[in-house]
Amino acid sequence: MQLTDPLVIFFFVLGLTFGSFGNVLILRLPKGKKIVGRSQCPKCKNQISTIDLIPVISYILLRGQCRFCKKKISIQYPIVEFVTGVLFVIAVMQTPESSLAALLLAGLLWLLFLMAFIDAQIQGIPDLLNIPFVLLALIFAWFTGTFTILAPVTVAGLFLVQWLVSSGAWVGSGDIILAAGIGLMMGDWERALVAIVAAYIVGALVALVGLLTGQISRKDHIAFGPFLAIGALITILWGEQLLGLFFF
Ligand SMILES: [Zn+2]
Repeated sequence: MQLTDPLVIFFFVLGLTFGSFGNVLILRLPKGKKIVGRSQCPKCKNQISTIDLIPVISYILLRGQCRFCKKKISIQYPIVEFVTGVLFVIAVMQTPESSLAALLLAGLLWLLFLMAFIDAQIQGIPDLLNIPFVLLALIFAWFTGTFTILAPVTVAGLFLVQWLVSSGAWVGSGDIILAAGIGLMMGDWERALVAIVAAYIVGALVALVGLLTGQISRKDHIAFGPFLAIGALITILWGEQLLGLFFF
């Protein structure tokens, strides 16, 4: 499938829209605010009109400033929109055989991205994201015929043990639910394990670089959700090659 394929372009635009809604969730979920309701400028509180809510484009047209008070709009908004667009493109390129499977995978990647983003910010994953993630992963596994009980039980069990042993210091309870969803998303337990190992490797590298550069100290708690999400994405992209590497 080519990047210029109409279906790929459709998925990119759909992803931008989901990214726009993702911005709302990133902003409101951690604060326990209600999700519905019009967006307003966080500085001057003016309601943002529909014309200024076009993903990425509005940001460029407004030159990154609020239409009313001219205060800077965070670059986070167009970045979240663009990344979600790219994730939707990855989903459709990875599942060219079925648009519905691609849509389900895109939804899973979107939720993973949001959970990673929020976990990095507040060191916790809202149940409003990880429960729907597990349910969607279940539908995805069923629809693509990849459902096994072994994969989610293996990875969730792995995190449950860490959670029990460390009394919740190494991993959070949200990570256990997230891991179960990733297990379902990956299908078989070998792929699920590749995702977890990839998460640990990336996490260890980031921690090492952080410690060496003094960005983080030994006492700092690092959220693991972002690394689980990266591990899952790596496995979606290069799972077959990594499986060959790990299991010969
Ligand atoms: Zn404003």
